[in-house]
Amino acid sequence: MQIHQFDAVIVGGGGAGLTAALHASRQAGIAVISKLYPTRSHTGVAQGGIGAALGNQEEDRWEWHAFDTVKGSDYLADQDAVEVLCREAIDNVFELEHMGLPFDRTENGTIAQRRFGGHTSNFGEKPVPRACHAADRTGHMILQTLYQQCIKNNIRFFDEFHVIDLIMSAGKPAGVIAVELASGDLHIFHAKAVMIATGGWGKVWQITSNGYTAAGDGASMVLRRGLPLEDMEFYQFHPTGIYRMGILITEGVRGEGGVLLNDKGERFMEEYAPGIKDLAGRDVISRAIYLEIQQGRGIGGKDYVHLDITPDTVNKYLAAAGASRRIDRRHIESKLPDIRDFCRTYLGIDPVIEPIPVQPTAHYAMGGIPTNANAEVVIDAKNNILPGLYAAGECACVSVHGANRLGTNSLVDLVVFGRRGGQAMAQYCKEADFVALPENPAEEMRARLDKLRHSNGTIRTVELRKRMQQTMSDFVGVFREAKGMQQAVDTIRELKEHYQNDLKIEDHGYIFNSDLIEAWELGSLLDLAEVTAVSALARKESRGSHAREDFPKRNDEDWLKHTLIHRTTLGKLKLDYKPVVITHYQPKERIY
Ligand SMILES: Cc1cc2nc3c(=O)[nH]c(=O)nc-3n(C[C@H](O)[C@H](O)[C@H](O)COP(=O)(O)OP(=O)(O)OC[C@H]3O[C@@H](n4cnc5c(N)ncnc54)[C@H](O)[C@@H]3O)c2cc1C
Repeated sequence: MQIHQFDAVIVGGGGAGLTAALHASRQAGIAVISKLYPTRSHTGVAQGGIGAALGNQEEDRWEWHAFDTVKGSDYLADQDAVEVLCREAIDNVFELEHMGLPFDRTENGTIAQRRFGGHTSNFGEKPVPRACHAADRTGHMILQTLYQQCIKNNIRFFDEFHVIDLIMSAGKPAGVIAVELASGDLHIFHAKAVMIATGGWGKVWQITSNGYTAAGDGASMVLRRGLPLEDMEFYQFHPTGIYRMGILITEGVRGEGGVLLNDKGERFMEEYAPGIKDLAGRDVISRAIYLEIQQGRGIGGKDYVHLDITPDTVNKYLAAAGASRRIDRRHIESKLPDIRDFCRTYLGIDPVIEPIPVQPTAHYAMGGIPTNANAEVVIDAKNNILPGLYAAGECACVSVHGANRLGTNSLVDLVVFGRRGGQAMAQYCKEADFVALPENPAEEMRARLDKLRHSNGTIRTVELRKRMQQTMSDFVGVFREAKGMQQAVDTIRELKEHYQNDLKIEDHGYIFNSDLIEAWELGSLLDLAEVTAVSALARKESRGSHAREDFPKRNDEDWLKHTLIHRTTLGKLKLDYKPVVITHYQPKERIY
């Protein structure tokens, strides 16, 4: 077994991990460990844009961005962290620009911006163009730019190394254990500090926009170590995934003027959000689509609606709204080239000519590993930190997204808190010493992995995964109620039993054993499904993405607080709560 030593290791080579690596590497010896080649991380498929109040096309201010973010979060976000996010977004976008990111440009050469859901000027007055973008491939450009900078700065990469555990010694993080996928060998990474930047876990649900590997390994690793996860009940369903497949159709389509239509050809968001209609918060629109379908107005009575970006339809609504802007085919081709390709490839339709069939798709984890604004992991309701442990990106919960994230705010989150975390971690490494590794640090994990490798039961990983996904989609999806959520908790626990006792692994080998790794990932997904359902069942109100049919109203008196959930030494899940930080924006009813 090989032992490596670095000042700090970063688990994850997506936008958050690479940003942190770049900033930390200026002062400390860093390794990035990633189960995928970094440029294949989910960040690379982010489409629509990164939000920053540059004001290049219309007046904008970071305070308006902060207000929108807090309102979008249904007042659950910590407002001190939101202020950091929105203020520093501007400088971070310029930093990416100076690294060479090829943003789209306005006619006078500044970074082009477009409208996105929930982003407004003057505290909710009207939609404002705030999303900086490179066509509909913004994430791809961000990831490539960051990766090139990392290579230039000689950062060490361990690609296709799957981290399976966080090593703790004397109560402190001392590194991680990883499987080298090519050989099946275990490697120990001994470090003063560890950052977890492993991304989301959309694969808990059946229809998702997330990549195959979005298994939440990092969050589940932290949970296994007895540390809490925060606000796990808040999971975002993006309103526009391709029908049945879940592949994302960016909100940028609506930002460019696209509208949602039901079977009668009605623009139904005029009903649900008369103010900003198709650009309301994602939770609001996903619920509206469900209700339209429930009331029989899905297309042809089926469970989808249309997203229409054909120039005739868009121009009709632009004219009716008194706007001077018009779009044409060329505009769509230049601003949404990938979306057009996806529709042609997966649906055989051209969105310039025909509307796109869409349904809500599991998209983004608002909850995750609790951190402060320096990406330091906090471990209790008093915000005490665990020195040496950091988390950033989608797996972390700062919390800037609260109960519902605004589009374009995840990419901001990655770079703002990735940078802050990288800098804080490097500073920590200067002052901290290595903690000694425990004796036989990989023993327990090797035994667990071997047990899994030789599982010889009757149920295959894919069957268990499908049952988990179906259960979570049915009972812990866009709408929820107590009975269903209880059923989900019970079923997930049953599936966990099967996972322990009845799993069948066909490949017992060591070299690129994807059968084994998928099974390992399912273990993480089941852990996260369970804490999601338990946290959701406990929260007796509706807020943001958590919409309960049995408690349809938001209840600030009892529930304006963050959930913390952890596993006790006896293996039971325990809930705790911590206050929300409010600075300027008092909770109000959320009207769009
Ligand atoms: C289709 C799509 C479009 C989106 N569009 C936008 C958008 O326009 N704007 C916006 O703001 N947000 C968007 N988002 C959200 C945003 O892209 C993600 O939240 C964000 O990219 C996550 O970045 P990350 O760095 O946290 O993780 P990721 O980019 O997912 O990277 C995770 C990394 O962790 C590594 N990893 C995971 N587990 C392990 C393990 N066990 N061992 C080793 N390595 C591991 C992976 O290899 C990978 O490198 C979109 C998301 C999707 C799915």
